Amino acid sequence: MENTNYQILLYYCYAKIENPEEYREQHHLFCVENNIRGRIIISDEGLNGTVSGLVEDCEKYMEYIHADPRFAKTEFKIDSHDKHAFTKIHVRYKPEIVHSALRHLDPNVRTGKHLDPEEFKKLKDQEDVVILDVRSNYEHELGRFKNALTLDIDNFRDFPEKVKELEHLKNKKVLTYCTGGIKCEKASAFLLEQGFEDVYQLHGGIIKYGMEAGGEDFEGKCYVFDNRIAVDVNKVNPKVVSKCHVCGTPSDRMVNCANSTCNAHVPMCEECGWEMEGACSTECKENPDKRTYDGTGYYQKNTNGYNPYKGLVRKGKEKSNA
Ligand SMILES: [Zn+2]
Ligand SMILES: [Zn+2]
Repeated sequence: MENTNYQILLYYCYAKIENPEEYREQHHLFCVENNIRGRIIISDEGLNGTVSGLVEDCEKYMEYIHADPRFAKTEFKIDSHDKHAFTKIHVRYKPEIVHSALRHLDPNVRTGKHLDPEEFKKLKDQEDVVILDVRSNYEHELGRFKNALTLDIDNFRDFPEKVKELEHLKNKKVLTYCTGGIKCEKASAFLLEQGFEDVYQLHGGIIKYGMEAGGEDFEGKCYVFDNRIAVDVNKVNPKVVSKCHVCGTPSDRMVNCANSTCNAHVPMCEECGWEMEGACSTECKENPDKRTYDGTGYYQKNTNGYNPYKGLVRKGKEKSNA
């Protein structure tokens, strides 16, 4: 039987944090003490994280967040898993919870209308609708909604620039979507600011759509930011849309290039994986930093010397200097 002792939580909350550095310390300590691992960003505009832990620890973590009135409305996307999905805990302060170059926009003031998965499913095939994927190339190449408009961007911070190419869609209904909903908060707010009139966003993103609407018409896999790399979404009419990086046959098998200095994430079929010894190109295959390919294309990061309390000691140092 499948072991589901662990959970993976994906969440964000736009809320003013007056004391982000201090809060970051507290939050970090809570994670260390409760064996929560993952990546969390704390900023003046809110928090954003993907974490993993034992079911009981994840429950404590969600209670911890909800108990804070600033984050009481936080929604968690919860997945079951058989182990931690991260090797470490990182809680960092950054100026934005998603790097967007759109710091002036506050989704709590104005953003696109939120659509629940079922509402999105009903609306997406209407005549006057454009489905807009606001994610980056490596994400939408692996999977996207059928008929979605994708953007040639390597990073979300390039989104605002690309919107100039979407002028002709200003009087359409624009439905944005992303992995867990966070990028859409800013992306749809930006579209409204640019004069788009009818803007909607998929609330909870692809992940929630998979859980609540069966993932219908999402083609391919959804790229995620933990050790799983990609997850299945569509239980209704799944399809493979990505191609093997080497031979071009349909494949949604994601590998990390065996050359550690490249480490590119590419789809690669089983056969090419062995043929190329897990490398994304002939160049990478010959690179002296190439790691041994074991058929998975996944390489455990070296965590020797990892200190979970790292980042917490700084405060003590400042005190002793004072
Ligand atoms: Zn291939
Ligand atoms: Zn490579």
